[in-house]
This record gives sequence, structure tokens and C-alpha cells, in this order.
Amino acid sequence: MEFQAETKRLLSIVANSLYTDKEVFVRELVSNASDALEKRRYAALTGGGGGGEEAGSNMEISITTNKDANTLTIADTGIGMSREELIDNLGTIARSGTKAFAQNLQEKGEAAANVIGQFGVGFYAVFMVADEVTVYSRKHGSDVAHCWRSTGDGSYALSEATNVEPGTTIVLKLKSTETNFSQRFHIEQNIRKYSNFVGFPITVDGTRV
Ligand code: ADP
Ligand code: MG
Repeated sequence: MEFQAETKRLLSIVANSLYTDKEVFVRELVSNASDALEKRRYAALTGGGGGGEEAGSNMEISITTNKDANTLTIADTGIGMSREELIDNLGTIARSGTKAFAQNLQEKGEAAANVIGQFGVGFYAVFMVADEVTVYSRKHGSDVAHCWRSTGDGSYALSEATNVEPGTTIVLKLKSTETNFSQRFHIEQNIRKYSNFVGFPITVDGTRV
């Protein structure tokens, strides 16, 4: 499927011109994982489904590094996304923050690097460091899971997936120039620096950070 035109433009800006603050992509992924866990907790509390009676147990963010494969994986046991949600949330600029970001860039012609600090660009920040991004997601309460995959160059592929636990797992195939982010020490430092505020347990390669 094709990304929405606006999303395409933003993707190329993010992937090609925001070099100074690359490491913020970890914070963006961790904060999305945290939001998803929060949504699961809320769904369970309000009995709206999607959370299940187990909400409260197994609420965590697990990060795995693989230096040899040069990959970084961020998994959460949060609410998860349905097929429609993957299309709406990852293939479209739906959220106001991202829209404002794109508008600000256009209006002020400001250096992209200055603007990223103000808004954050969320999920798309992954394309600063990854050649290919794969998102496995299964909504809590659903038997069906999906796999979303993109190289950030205008389109993405979507298919059904098997053996996916409820929640979301994001696998980054890092660029050959970004070997830092597949190293445990580097990721641990990054988490301590940028994701201190997160209210759910975070592990890196099985160890609590
Ligand atoms: P924002 O977090 O500001 O909404 P993002 O670009 O970071 O924008 O993420 C876009 C949307 O994709 C989120 O609002 C959310 O609906 C969805 N999303 C991203 N990551 C996850 C995740 N790990 N679990 C569930 N939904 C997610
Ligand atoms: Mg976000």
C-alpha cells in the first residue's frame, strides 16, 4: 500500500535531514509502547474489552539487541493494533502533532533539526536509522495478528501473521552506518537518558534497566 502523500513528504524529511538527534527514535518507540500499555490498562479498567482480565500482569517493554544481525527489537504487551489501526496509525499522518510539525517546517522554513525537538515525529523517526522496519501487532482480545513492513520509501506491505502474542513488536533492521543501536550498552544508556519517565518496566536483553 502507498503512504498518504503528506506522510511520504514527511518521511523523506525525517529520514534524510534530521541527522543531529537520531537517537531520539528510541524514546519515540518507548513512549508509544508506554502509551499502548496505558491504553490496555484503561481498557481493562473500563471493561471495554481489549484489555482482558490479565491487565496489570505482564505489562512491560522488552528491548532486544542483536549485534551480529544489526537489529533492534522493541516489544510491548500493550493494547496492540488491528489491521485497520496499522493502516490508519502507521500509514497516515492522522495525529495533530505530526501535522503541526510538517506545517511548521513549511511555514518557517526552519532547520528541520530545530523543529524535531519541539514536536517529535513519533514512529517515523525509525527511518533515520533503519533500512527496514517490521511491525508485528495483535490487538488484545483478538486471535488475528498482522505484519506491517516498510523501507520508508513510499509504500508498505501488510499481511496476516502467526505466532504473535498480544501487543506490538517492532523490529528495526538498522542501516550499516548505525551499528551503535544494536549494542546493548548503547541502548541502555539511551534508555536511562531519555526514557526515565516511563511508568512500566523496561528490559534490555532480559535485564531490567
Ligand atoms: P503519537 O504517539 O504522537 O500518536 P506516533 O507517530 O508516535 O504518534 O504513533 C502513531 C500512532 O501509532 C499512535 O498514536 C498509536 O495509535 C500507534 N502506535 C504506535 N506504536 C504503537 C504501539 N507500540 N502499540 C500500539 N499502537 C501504537
Ligand atoms: Mg508517539
